[in-house]
Amino acid sequence: MRGAVQGVGFRPFVWRLAHALSLAGWVRNDIAGVFIELEGEDGALREFRRALDEAPPPLARIREILENPAPVTKEPGFTIRPSEDAGARTVLVLPDVATCPACLAEVLDPKDRRHLYPFANCTNCGPRFTIVTDLPYDRPATTMAAFTLCGECRAEYEDPRDRRFHAQPIACPACGPHLEAWSPSGDVLARRHEALLAAADALRAGAVVAVKGLGGFHLMCDARSADAVAALRRRKRREEKPLALMVRDVAAARALAEVTDESEALLAGPEAPIVLLPRRADAGVASNVAPGRPELGLMLPATPLHHLLLRETRFPVVATSGNRSEEPIATDEREALVRLAGMADLFLVHDRALARHVDDSVARVVAGAPRLLRRARGWAPLPVPVREELPVILGVGAHMKTAVALSVGRQVFLSQHVGDLETPEALDAFERVIADFQRLYAVEPAAVAHDLHPGYASTVFAKKLAEARGLPAVAVQHHHAHLAACLAENEADGPALGVTWDGTGLGTDGTIWGGEFLLGDASGFTRVAHLRPFRLLGGDAAVKEPRRIALAILLELLGEGALGREDLECVRSFSRSEREVLAKMASSGLNAPVTTSAGRLFDAVASLLGIAQKSSFEGQSAMALEAAAFEAWGEVAPGAAQPLAGQIRLVISSDGSAILDWEPLLSYLLGKSSPGVSSSLLAAEFHAALADGIAAAAAHVGAPRVALTGGCFQNKLLTELAAARLRAAGFEVLLHGAVPPNDGGIGLGQVLVAAERLKHLHRGD
Ligand SMILES: [Zn+2]
Ligand SMILES: [Zn+2]
Repeated sequence: MRGAVQGVGFRPFVWRLAHALSLAGWVRNDIAGVFIELEGEDGALREFRRALDEAPPPLARIREILENPAPVTKEPGFTIRPSEDAGARTVLVLPDVATCPACLAEVLDPKDRRHLYPFANCTNCGPRFTIVTDLPYDRPATTMAAFTLCGECRAEYEDPRDRRFHAQPIACPACGPHLEAWSPSGDVLARRHEALLAAADALRAGAVVAVKGLGGFHLMCDARSADAVAALRRRKRREEKPLALMVRDVAAARALAEVTDESEALLAGPEAPIVLLPRRADAGVASNVAPGRPELGLMLPATPLHHLLLRETRFPVVATSGNRSEEPIATDEREALVRLAGMADLFLVHDRALARHVDDSVARVVAGAPRLLRRARGWAPLPVPVREELPVILGVGAHMKTAVALSVGRQVFLSQHVGDLETPEALDAFERVIADFQRLYAVEPAAVAHDLHPGYASTVFAKKLAEARGLPAVAVQHHHAHLAACLAENEADGPALGVTWDGTGLGTDGTIWGGEFLLGDASGFTRVAHLRPFRLLGGDAAVKEPRRIALAILLELLGEGALGREDLECVRSFSRSEREVLAKMASSGLNAPVTTSAGRLFDAVASLLGIAQKSSFEGQSAMALEAAAFEAWGEVAPGAAQPLAGQIRLVISSDGSAILDWEPLLSYLLGKSSPGVSSSLLAAEFHAALADGIAAAAAHVGAPRVALTGGCFQNKLLTELAAARLRAAGFEVLLHGAVPPNDGGIGLGQVLVAAERLKHLHRGD
């Protein structure tokens, strides 16, 4: 049996089932999954198989069951045999699983021996990926190996009838890890439950507390206190980006945000992700938690430690990654003292080592289903199954929101979120994750796939690695990787039209792409349409200052007259001489590269409508534009299938390729934009017009299957409008789910494109 079948209570399940049906034989874990030998009557064997298919253990995900006849041995009884570690490592390492209701009930029960114990877990919950050091998954191959089981835990561990039979991280107050509260200099201030109480006291007093959790440190503070939140922001150097919150339960989440059935299932699921939810007007959190955002990122406790802490505080806490700005999350308490120095007033730590960092996942319900924006706890390192056996290929991702991918057999394993490769710490984490994956699955890559952009740190690393090992390095165009990832995740064949819209990706013509319509699949693509290009005045400076892009577009619409439009904030905010310099840049093209980026068009419109002139983080203006559009969405027909503006124009050139021209749309917005008109309404019309443009391009291309991928499809409104328009016109629409539409999914696409490329290489064409 292959799939997620280890560490989920599979063997005891099989043991109990075999006993109930009077079947003889044995079960064991091996490196490829679970192996069962059964002997008995036909009817009982059929019944066994039916139970396996219809009611497997809740966390198990069976991918494949292979059956073979075996000679009759007449040996009585059914046993669980020790694990076998020979063969190819295709077993799935399970993600960490949030505390199950049974374990939480024990922790809260004063009569239970695990009362108030922050590390309780069982076969259905607890740490997995963050404690595994080797395969197969058994206690000696976890960071729990350091803790010797007490008599009572051993009895539970060895009893197939017990909920903790072979629960590898099993622990109790007598034999497991414990909490300590440390001062910033590492002095022990309190131990065990007293340490937890000290952390709760510190939070209550407005302090910032670093808490060692499941996959790394969180920085926490009282979410109701603007001063505490401001201190945390200042120390973490995080100015405006929204901060996530942890609340004790679904009821507490409902007090802060609108929770639908779908989002409740996601929030309370075993993955315990941060879920973006529409905030309530009366939400009792400080305004600097998520300034100007219509949504709050909420998560529930994932471990007994967090349950106990949140029950002590009785108020929502900010729970943000324990790191400085975009660095990777800290995992070790000694390292945390250094890396989080000056940030936390108190450290709540414990002596269970983390084998690797895993951040909180971030998800959003879009078009009626959960979509991941950051794939980490609860999902990593689950693979994406693919149809054919692939050579071992490492896909290193791009530059932002990096995650790596590794193909083994018919699976592509996706790493946890690593982050932006902008600091030495991030690069270290990136290299560690790559080494970790190869070691865990005991494979050497046959090729390394990387982005076409030569300047990305991931590209430089991939080329070096390939050269050192004498392997082919395969360059994959950024948006092609997005398309391949979306097809793979949906287990769909091409050719499909990939609407790949994002911020930045190097195109095959050497310009910056980002508003692309690519027709193809992993084996190749044709760029059948794209957004009309515009200039980024000042290059990278334009990413931080959307007003530069707005000015470039105004210059195209109005010529030199744009410089005098004092009525527009995007013009007014520049001095006369700055405008002259920028206009020269635009006409000469010097330090003003052209781009077709849809993300940058969002920035430009946010600026033009006076919503945002500068961005302190990637995607900020686009998020503000989406937020503004949502505000107006109540005023127009929700989910309206008919165009609101219909102002976008598709220009077909003689070779059949098309350009989606933004000029009529932006002229329209400019014409209507005045102090008396709601910029929200115009923002909504902009979204609707882009969805129309996508539908028009799809109709022009005619491919029945359309994939919406790239960072722009983190935008709920754009995604829902475009999908609705396309479906109404009869197209099959592919969206991302468990693989992020942003660059977190690039590694997967790179692996699939490289696999196709290698086939041709081997055939010699
Ligand atoms: Zn449990
Ligand atoms: Zn114990």
